Amino acid sequence: MTSLPYHGLRLLAVHAHPDDESSKGAATSAKYASLGARVLIATMTGGEAGDILNPALLQSPKASRDIAGLRREEMAAAASALGAEHVWVGHVDSGLPDGDFDNQTPPGCFYRVPDEVAMLPLVHIIRTFRPQVVTTYDELGGYPHPDHIKNHAVTMAAVAAAADPAAHPELGEAWQVQKVYYNQDLSAKKWITIHEKMLEAGLESPFADHLEDFKKRDNQRNNWLSTRIDCGEFFPSRDRALLSHATQIDPEGGFFSASRKAARTYWPTEEFELATDLTGREPLTPGVDFQEDDLFASVTFDDGRRVPAEGMLPKSPETETEAGAETGAEATMSTESDSPA
Ligand SMILES: [Zn+2]
Repeated sequence: MTSLPYHGLRLLAVHAHPDDESSKGAATSAKYASLGARVLIATMTGGEAGDILNPALLQSPKASRDIAGLRREEMAAAASALGAEHVWVGHVDSGLPDGDFDNQTPPGCFYRVPDEVAMLPLVHIIRTFRPQVVTTYDELGGYPHPDHIKNHAVTMAAVAAAADPAAHPELGEAWQVQKVYYNQDLSAKKWITIHEKMLEAGLESPFADHLEDFKKRDNQRNNWLSTRIDCGEFFPSRDRALLSHATQIDPEGGFFSASRKAARTYWPTEEFELATDLTGREPLTPGVDFQEDDLFASVTFDDGRRVPAEGMLPKSPETETEAGAETGAEATMSTESDSPA
């Protein structure tokens, strides 16, 4: 174990619902875990409000009587497929109302709990796990879902409180996270680029009808893809994790199957946006994409060693783009969390 380069490094990936960890940053999690880092996925809610999106499971008594229980089993299988550890933060899914999140979400749900209360279990998790790097969503949630927007606010509050020895000493010894990133691997830039590359290659793009949506989303928030992780060889692990969430995935669906296949060929990376950097290195240039290719670049280990500024990630083998096709794992998402729109 100790010979693996990332042994001693810890990544905490905070997500809103079970399945988000498999559609955002999943191959990155699998890659770091394989290199010896500890990867802990913290899921804010139990996904209790999720519908059954897989027609094959509509008749399943377990799916209709105990969706929360079934989603816990699915989550355990997904974490295992990624080689990650997992913890439930313990909040209740807010569902996805059409309009006014403040009034249409159910009382007591994650969205309605004040940030300073909702953060408490996460402060404890941060102080216990002691991650050097934390990932979460941007302030718009990356996707307009109340739990995703809340995921951002609560993660940022928890990271700040965890570092403050005066804040909630009963939750453990203070811990300073060195870097926070936002998941940006479902960026509009990515889908637009894949679309253009497919046209150049003379292929029919599955994204043609969605281009206006992508551009609108790009205008709402100009995502900064500061950091790009080369992780195509772990797309099969990501697909296995995603398929573990059987209630949320229709394996026979069309659009996402095509989009995932295209991404494997034309975009074998996952992107993140640097939000907090306390490593003390020379700052990245804001707004300039692809300046980093390792989330742990310039991070300090517990023993004082430092990850080089250029990072330590080995490049993916060239054959990566073929690897997924051979597994036959054509993961198809019908859930919001993988939606490019
Ligand atoms: Zn979600």
